Amino acid sequence: MPDLAQILNRLDREMRADGDWGEVAAYIPELARVPKDRFAIAVVTADGSLYRAGDADEPFSVQSITKVFTLAIALGRSGDQLWHRVGREPSGRAFNSIVQLEQENGRPRNPFINAGAIVVTDEVLSGREPREALAEIVQFLKTACGSDDVYINNAVAASETAHGHRNFALAHFLASFDNLLNPPDLTLGTYFHHCALEMSTVQLARAGRFLVNAPDLPRLISATRVRRLNALMMTCGHYDGSGDFAYRVGIPGKSGVGGGILAIVPNVASIAVWSPGLNRYGNSAKGTEALARLTRLMDWSVF
Ligand code: GLU
Repeated sequence: MPDLAQILNRLDREMRADGDWGEVAAYIPELARVPKDRFAIAVVTADGSLYRAGDADEPFSVQSITKVFTLAIALGRSGDQLWHRVGREPSGRAFNSIVQLEQENGRPRNPFINAGAIVVTDEVLSGREPREALAEIVQFLKTACGSDDVYINNAVAASETAHGHRNFALAHFLASFDNLLNPPDLTLGTYFHHCALEMSTVQLARAGRFLVNAPDLPRLISATRVRRLNALMMTCGHYDGSGDFAYRVGIPGKSGVGGGILAIVPNVASIAVWSPGLNRYGNSAKGTEALARLTRLMDWSVF
């Protein structure tokens, strides 16, 4: 195997040498305050070894990457029933698009666009209080990464609540099609808070181990479900940039507007990258480029 430690250091140098750090997400004002000039990468291989470079201990807002974990929890609670409420097709639309939801009668295309993730959160919330649902989500992440140092940034959650008009519109649209079990405010409160979870790049790479499906790694869900989550990450994990990500990087991944990406090489490794500047699809620009170079150098691909 090529020298992974050396490759990560090289990628860290290359990403910093390019002075164009892009633009951070500004629609959540609290995220706009994050310094742009950050880059981190961490890889945990199937034997449990950790490799890392850059600002890999700095916590960042995980945002939509939590949608993979909430989907795992929702499928555990509700099984395939969930698919009556949300589809499994790429959307070809922006993460917060409303138009498709109306055209398709309130059944979101997939669980990773905002409308779909709101439905998944609603399922995780059903029959209990938001704090109980959030406690399960936070505990799942703590167990997955093997660390208790995972927390919700309440300032980020409050900032998104104050400016989340589109998500409120999506939730009310869902309710108008009878596709919300709880009051929109409660479901959205839960959604905004799990999106506001903070983790470091190292913690995120560790948390992704349950998706690698290797014998020595934690098994939080069945092997079949691991494969299916990976399939959804491959086809829907980068919004309307999912095709481009599959072409350039060649492995399943899930991005968040905080600039993080969790990517999985099935049976081989869990990878996390973080750089807050985003490309036009709302996915980390340097994170995507670093993953493209890493998979090429390591000869990692599902194809
Ligand atoms: N909390 C964000 C939102 O709902 C998540 C979006 C993302 O990370 O892509 O807008």
